[in-house]
Amino acid sequence: MPIVNRVADMHPEITAWRRDLHAHPELLYEVHRTAASVAEKLKHFGCDEVVTGIGRTGVVGVIRGRKAGERVVGLRADMDALPIEEATELPYKSTVPGKMHACGHDGHTAMLLGAAKYLAETRNFAGTAVVIFQPAEEGGAGAHAMIKDGLLDRFGIQQVFGMHNGPGLPVGQFAIRPGPLMASTDTIVIDLEGKGAHAGWPHRGVDTILVGAQIVNQLQTIVARNVDPLEAAVISICVFRAGETENVIPQHAQLRGTVRTLKSEVRTLVEDRVRAVVEGTARLYGAKANLTYTTGYPVLVNEERQTAFAAEIAAEIAGRDKVHLDAPPIMGAEDFAYMLQQRPGAFIWIGNGNSAGLHHPAYDFNDEAIPVGTSYWVRLAETALAG
Ligand SMILES: [Zn+2]
Ligand SMILES: [Zn+2]
Repeated sequence: MPIVNRVADMHPEITAWRRDLHAHPELLYEVHRTAASVAEKLKHFGCDEVVTGIGRTGVVGVIRGRKAGERVVGLRADMDALPIEEATELPYKSTVPGKMHACGHDGHTAMLLGAAKYLAETRNFAGTAVVIFQPAEEGGAGAHAMIKDGLLDRFGIQQVFGMHNGPGLPVGQFAIRPGPLMASTDTIVIDLEGKGAHAGWPHRGVDTILVGAQIVNQLQTIVARNVDPLEAAVISICVFRAGETENVIPQHAQLRGTVRTLKSEVRTLVEDRVRAVVEGTARLYGAKANLTYTTGYPVLVNEERQTAFAAEIAAEIAGRDKVHLDAPPIMGAEDFAYMLQQRPGAFIWIGNGNSAGLHHPAYDFNDEAIPVGTSYWVRLAETALAG
């Protein structure tokens, strides 16, 4: 069973939707045009219910099968773009300066719209398919906002599935794995206060640059000496701000960075150690440190059973040899993780071919992947709700 025929017929139409979204990127929760266009299409397709404003600008479409049934499956796409200046000469390139669809959420939205159109047309299943279009995946936790607004309970969603394009993975292929697939991301901000002084009399001050440098080094010992070497953890300090001129020891410094892990136990361990290292190092040198530790997206964990199911559907569409069952986990993050904390489900990579990488100014979603991804969605819904 390769590409669904009806989906193949819809390829040009879905491509046109995708390119329209690409030309009109919107950020975070401000996806007003995108959400309106999604809602209008879902209504036009004849969805039984179209609900807007869930998680501020999220949109949900409900499609009931021809046969009644208790089962409810959720299919999720993301709608937001990134604050990046597009560096392509595509005819449908971004019309908004400083914003572009550099993560392929235009493609994700278009493919799920295509699936919604097919499912509303055919309704060849028993139970309910819920298509979920979320805002603010790129750092705004839109999935979390939709859950807080009652998404999963209100529509009775029992399992959820997500999909992301993967540059480097050939078009027509899928990759997935059970267990942790993407990292938790926590943010640290360290405000240091020492004692400003003349650079020629360092003994009269407390040098926040020296203290900050020690903290940067000590933090790396957490990864090297506290975390089990067979587990994954990243601590990256990406901002170090201090000083104005070469003959003044600065009173203040600020460090900012990110912490990423693939297990909640490791996440907790690293947080505890970061707190101890920052406080202890600052005290050692007589400085004051104020640490703001903000927990972000959780680890994305694929459920065993739903992963096997998703892989089976992908194999039906792409062929068994085109589905990689041991996708390596990555230290990037995805807020679909919040949905997987609440319901069993699985997140799958779909090949985007030899494109520029995600979040690169020359990136573009590969429209050749549309029939593959759309077929995956419709077959997944029809199989999960087979009656
Ligand atoms: Zn992204
Ligand atoms: Zn993305």
